[in-house]
This record gives sequence, C-alpha cells and structure tokens, in this order.
Amino acid sequence: MTKPVILAVDDDPEVLNAVERDLRQHFRADYRVIKVGSGSQALETTRQLKQRDSIIALFLVDERMPEMTGTQFLIEALKLYPDARRVLLTAYADTETAITAINEIGLAHYLLKPWEPPSQKLYPVLDDLLEDWTAKVRPAFGGLRVAGVALSPTSYAIKDFLSRNQVPYRWVDLETDAPARELVSSLPEGMSRLPVVFFPDGSHMVQPTARELAERLGMQTRAQRPFYDLVVVGGGPAGLASAVYGASEGLKTILVERDATGGQAGTSSRIENYLGFPGGVSGADLARRATTQAKRFGAEILTAQDVVEIKRNDPYRTVKLSDDNELSCYTVLIAAGMEVRRLDAPGIEDLVGAGVFYGAALTEATTYRNRDVFVVGGANSAGQGAMFFSRYARKVTMLLRGPKLSAGMSQYLVDRIMETKNVEVLTNTAVCSVRGEGRLESIRVRHGVTNEECDMRADAMFIFIGTAPRTSMVAGLVERDGQGFILTGRDLMIDGRPPRGWPLIRDPFLFETSVPGGFAAGDVRHGSRKRVASAVGEGSATVSMIHQYLETV
Ligand SMILES: Cc1cc2nc3c(=O)[nH]c(=O)nc-3n(C[C@H](O)[C@H](O)[C@H](O)COP(=O)(O)OP(=O)(O)OC[C@H]3O[C@@H](n4cnc5c(N)ncnc54)[C@H](O)[C@@H]3O)c2cc1C
Repeated sequence: MTKPVILAVDDDPEVLNAVERDLRQHFRADYRVIKVGSGSQALETTRQLKQRDSIIALFLVDERMPEMTGTQFLIEALKLYPDARRVLLTAYADTETAITAINEIGLAHYLLKPWEPPSQKLYPVLDDLLEDWTAKVRPAFGGLRVAGVALSPTSYAIKDFLSRNQVPYRWVDLETDAPARELVSSLPEGMSRLPVVFFPDGSHMVQPTARELAERLGMQTRAQRPFYDLVVVGGGPAGLASAVYGASEGLKTILVERDATGGQAGTSSRIENYLGFPGGVSGADLARRATTQAKRFGAEILTAQDVVEIKRNDPYRTVKLSDDNELSCYTVLIAAGMEVRRLDAPGIEDLVGAGVFYGAALTEATTYRNRDVFVVGGANSAGQGAMFFSRYARKVTMLLRGPKLSAGMSQYLVDRIMETKNVEVLTNTAVCSVRGEGRLESIRVRHGVTNEECDMRADAMFIFIGTAPRTSMVAGLVERDGQGFILTGRDLMIDGRPPRGWPLIRDPFLFETSVPGGFAAGDVRHGSRKRVASAVGEGSATVSMIHQYLETV
C-alpha cells in the first residue's frame, strides 16, 4: 500500500525546499511528501494522484502565487480530495484572506511564514490535523477501479468480465461519488463514454472491449505457437478438463474462451454435487483451480477470443477467431456448452444490463440489497439464483410457467426455497412484457389458468429459462440434432453404418463428430447429462480418443 501524500505548493523555490525538508524530516515514515512550484502544476499533480487512486492527506499551500492563489487551488483540489486537510502558508498581510478561506473552503489552519522552529510552530499543528484525518479516512484500494453509473449495460459487461475472470476491482459509482465524477469529467472524453477503467499506474481506458481489457491486464489473447495437437473451444468444465489431461499427457494444447473460464458452472454460486466437495464449492473457485491446473501443465488459455468458424483442410483443422487470426491443429474439441435462452417479451432487449439479466449476474447482487427482485424459471439454476439473491434482496419472487416448483428442480433446492422466508414462488405465471425508463421498473405477468394480467413493481429480473447449445461455429461442418446439439460416436451411426461422407474405414470414436479429428464433449454434445461431473468426465475421456486419432495422422 502506498503512503498517503502531503502536497506542498509554493512558487518560491527557497521556501518550497524548506517546507519539503521540514516535512520530510518529521513525516517521512508515514507520508510521501511531494512538492510542486505552482497552483496549476499542483492541480495537474492532484489529478494524476487521483487517477492512480493515491490518497492526499494534506495540502500545505502558499496563498500568494501569481497565476493561481492558494485558495483558488484548494477550491479545485478539494473537489477531488474533499477529505484532505488544508493549510495555507501566509504572510502576515494575508491573514484577512486566510480568515475568509476558513469560511469558504473550510481551511483547517493557516501558518505564518516563517514557521521556525518547526517543532513548535509546524509539527504540532500538522500532527493534530493528520491524526484527525487518519481516524476518518479509509485506505486507498490500490487496484483496478471501474467508474461508471449503475444500471448501465456497458458498465455491467465490464464488471461481469472482470469478476468472472476473478480480477479484483473496485466499483466507483459516479452518481454518488462526487470526487470521482470530477476526475472523470476532467478527462478528454468526459462523462460521455462510460465506464472508465483506472489502473494502479494512473492510466485509464474508456469503455474498453473485453479483449482490450484482457490484453491490458496481461491475459493471453494470442496464440504462441503456429500449430497445436489440440485446440479446445470453450473453457467450461469439459474444456478445462480436456486441457488439463491433454497438456499433462504431452499434447500441445490451447483452449479458447470467449468470456471467462468456468463456463456455466463458473456462474453458479454453489455446486453441491461435485465429487470431493462435501460442503459444496463455488463455480468461481472450481474454475480458478482448474484454470491454474491447466496452465501448470502447459496448456495455453486464450481469453476474450471467440471461435467463429472451424474449417477442415485434411489432415489439418483450422480454427478461426473473431479477431480474424487462425489456429492450425490436428484435432479440435468443441466444448462450447450452452447459452441461456433469451426471453421473448416486449421491452426486454433495451433493459438488459439495466435491471434485466440473463443468468445469475453475481456482480449485481449488492446493487439489489433490500430491493425486490424476480427470478424467472423453475429449474436448478433458477433455484440456485433465487437462493443466492435471497441473501441480499428484500424479497425474491420466482416466476414459473409450470404448476409446481419440484417439476424441474432437485428436491434439496425445493426444500431450501420453501424454508426461505423472503422467497415467494408464483406458479402458472408467465412474463408478458417489461417496462422502464433507462432501468427496469415493472413486469407485466399473466396467470396461465385465469389469463388475468397484472403489473408488478420490480428492481431486477434474473432470467433462467433454459439453454440452447452453442454450435454455430460448426454449422454445416458436423452433424447436429434438431436442436443444434452435436452428434458424436454411436449417435452418428445409421443402421450400423457411419454417416454419409465419413472417410475412414473405422467407425467414429466415442465423442468424435462426423468430421474425423473433431470431437465434442459436455453440454454441447447430443445426449450429454448437463452436469459438471459429466462434462468433466467427457472432457477428460476425450483425450484418450484424441491420442488414438493422432496415431493415425
Ligand atoms: C447457474 C447454474 C448452476 C448450475 N449448477 C450446477 C450444479 O450445481 N451441479 C451440476 O452438476 N451442474 C450444474 N449446472 C450445469 C453445469 O454448469 C453444466 O452442465 C456444465 O457447466 C457444462 O459444462 P461445459 O463445459 O460442457 O459447458 P459450459 O459450462 O457451458 O462452458 C462452455 C464454455 O464455452 C465458451 N464458449 C462458447 N462458445 C464459444 C466460442 N465460440 N468461442 C470460445 N468460447 C466459447 C463459453 O463462454 C463457456 O465458457 C449449473 C448451470 C448453471 C447455469
């Protein structure tokens, strides 16, 4: 943690050096003393310090400076550091000004020059002020800060990206934090494009994309090798498991993930049925451990990269990324899982990120503390979401189309929901439309039996209405079922024969698609169990099929 700053400002170099010397002598151990020779320079320094999230504890400023007086400087500087203690250095003739400043800017003290001996005339005054300051001010965060406005889709996207990638950050709400608003307004882009991400070195990015942010944070977004044995598409449990096994067994392996490793499991607040974790494990924790494990074995993991197409160029496979780069390899494992189905109701699209969220949106929980939130859906993920938000929200209302909760949910979750006082379950209830100006305000629902409609006031709505496979990158290349799930192994066989166009004498391996060397595992695969453990099992088991395949190329 960097020390708080004492900023000394005086246009007379001799006086400035003397102030600096005396301040350092006494405060060096606990404070960083910075000296500046004019009001305008000092203002610039103050802004830079704010950008770095450094804290200024005390301004010690000469009143008589040519282009900007000490009082004028303090008026501006205090907009950025309202809690800093402020002391004017004055000549005898300036005492009137100093007295005015006491009223105007809450001047804590004014010191007459010279202040000899400092042990009597300088240190006791400043010690007292700094002691008071220390008692009231919280320490600087020292990490990444995201400054924006709540209920904004762009701010939400960045917060979600950071939290899902487990990058610690502090959220700075520009609607309530006046000094931060002042800082952002002083940037060339002002408040027009938000959020602004501030880095500990004082630099910033305005409304960055996930990839720009990932690159700036040192995450890998580009491949290191020209060619791989195995490219894994998707970093959920299936993809991570195959990366761990592939890399640990000597395959040159790269995994490409569009958002954050962990996949759907990574958004789960608590997974209770995964082997070896009797008390449950959070999806984030599981994802972090598996990612570290894959990297330890030498797998490369690209983040914020989307696989848009997979091409066949026998015996090679080419994986095209959204930034137009391509990866060449012998084998591809598609482990792209599923995405949440979109709710088709008027008004929703405009409010996504501004009160309407798909999935658990864990970052938003504290925003809705003591508010009324709705969870749409009746399967396990909706149940977990409702339990999670019940810890923060005043009330959680679950909206289910079906007649009862237990139909699509594990019994242990049904029991928990029933025991939780601030969760209400409305069955036979469908969302017809949503309304809100810039943020969700109300939901219109229809009762499935009576057809009655009514509006319900809502602060947030989290939607969990099922999922669809993400397989557009192999559309037209591999065989899929009617819903888009990828067919593999025996499911490809028709009357005991491989599918049309299959070029080999042998049948497709377990988990192999209709294109030799192309594999699929986890939720994306037709017939898979849609559970963490089965995705992990399939991802790991595929690696042995890949070894068999590699023996033939
Ligand atoms: C909220 C929630 C709670 C759950 N709780 C449990 C539980 O308690 N127990 C349990 O057993 N199961 C649970 N599940 C189900 C479980 O999480 C899934 O079965 C499992 O995550 C499937 O793993 P997967 O690797 O096949 O796919 P996913 O987890 O869906 O991962 C796929 C990954 O691929 C990435 N991807 C997709 N397309 C591309 C592309 N084109 N380019 C690059 N990357 C791409 C995605 O971003 C994603 O990270 C839960 C699911 C949810 C949503």
